[in-house]
Amino acid sequence: MSHCNIEETLERHALHKTKDRHRILELFEEKRTWTAKQIHQELRTLNLTTVYRNIQKLTEVGIVTEVHSHHGEQHFEKQQKTHHDHFLCASCDIVECVPCPIPKQPTHILELTGTCKTCT
Ligand SMILES: [Zn+2]
Ligand SMILES: [Zn+2]
Ligand SMILES: [Zn+2]
Repeated sequence: MSHCNIEETLERHALHKTKDRHRILELFEEKRTWTAKQIHQELRTLNLTTVYRNIQKLTEVGIVTEVHSHHGEQHFEKQQKTHHDHFLCASCDIVECVPCPIPKQPTHILELTGTCKTCT
């Protein structure tokens, strides 16, 4: 995803285009979820408090949404209009977004568990 996309998103929600937010949103372009700790591990220069504060703001305006807790950690992902489900890796903390295997079913939450590509 291009930078312009992220800037446009921030503009649309009347958020200051800080470098921190930009970098966090870049991570959210991936089809997976992130915990504050994972973001902090990825963007070492941002301390955990800064990450939490930014996620809170992004959640407030609806750019980012809470998905679920996994291993006691709240996972976040970019707000998506299309329904999809999640794959949880049993060995690491990654949660990937996957296409819905039962699209005809009415509203549901489906979590698949297994081993991700990195852990196999
Ligand atoms: Zn894994
Ligand atoms: Zn997802
Ligand atoms: Zn589904």
